[in-house]
Amino acid sequence: MPKRQIAIDGPAGAGKSTIAKLVSDLLDYTHIDTGAMYRAITLKAMRLNVDLDDEDAFDFLDQTKFDYKNGVLFMDGKDVSKDIRSREVSNNVSLVSSHALVRRVLVERQQKLARDHDVVMDGRDIGYNVLPKANYKFFLTADVTTRAKRRFLENAKNGIHIPLDDLKQEIITRDDFDSNRKHSPLKAAEDAIVIDTSDMDIEDVVKTIEAKVREEDTDEF
Ligand code: C5P
Repeated sequence: MPKRQIAIDGPAGAGKSTIAKLVSDLLDYTHIDTGAMYRAITLKAMRLNVDLDDEDAFDFLDQTKFDYKNGVLFMDGKDVSKDIRSREVSNNVSLVSSHALVRRVLVERQQKLARDHDVVMDGRDIGYNVLPKANYKFFLTADVTTRAKRRFLENAKNGIHIPLDDLKQEIITRDDFDSNRKHSPLKAAEDAIVIDTSDMDIEDVVKTIEAKVREEDTDEF
C-alpha cells in the first residue's frame, strides 16, 4: 500500500516540529524533522572545521549516517539532538542548507524515509519539492515577535539564554536567507493550507490539522 504523507512547512519558530510530532503521535506516523538533518550536517561541518562556504567541502555527506530512535536524532551513532540547537549551529545552518549538493543528498534521504514509512515531515520545501504528492500540505506562519517569544521560551527550557531582541533579529535574518536562496527556498506549496498560528496555542493548531485530515479522509481513523 502506498505510504501516507503529511507535509508541514513554514518559517523559523512557527512551531512546525512540535506540531508535527504531536500529529504523528496521533496518527501513529513517523515524524521526520528535516531541519534537524540540516542542523546535524552543519554541526558536523563545524566540528570538522571545513569552510562552510565551500560546497565541495561537504563530500563527507555520503559517509554520514542518520538514525531516529524514539524521535531522537543520532548522527554517526551519537545523540546530537541537543548540540544541533546551539546558537552557532542556528546561525550557520542557512548557509549550509543553501548548497545544492547538501540539499540533493538530504532530499534523497528524506524521500527514501517517506517511501518506507507513513510520515509527517516538517521543513521549508517539503510540500513543493520533497513530497510534491503529499496527501496533505500545511504551511504554518506566525508574526515574527510571536515566533521569537516561542523560541525564547523553548531555549530557556534547554538552558540556552539569548536576549529576545537578538533572537528576533536572528530569525529575521535566517528567514530572509532561506526565502531568497537559489535552491528550493522557503515557500508554501500552491496547494498548501496556510494556518496563521499567531493567536493559536499548540493544541488548537493540532486540532485544526486533525480536523482537516479527518474531513478529507474518513478512512484514516
Ligand atoms: O526547522 P529548523 O529551524 O530547525 O531548520 C533549520 C534550518 O534548516 C532552516 O533555517 C533552513 O536553513 C534549513 N532547512 C532547509 N530545508 C528544510 C528544513 C530546514 O533548508 N526542509
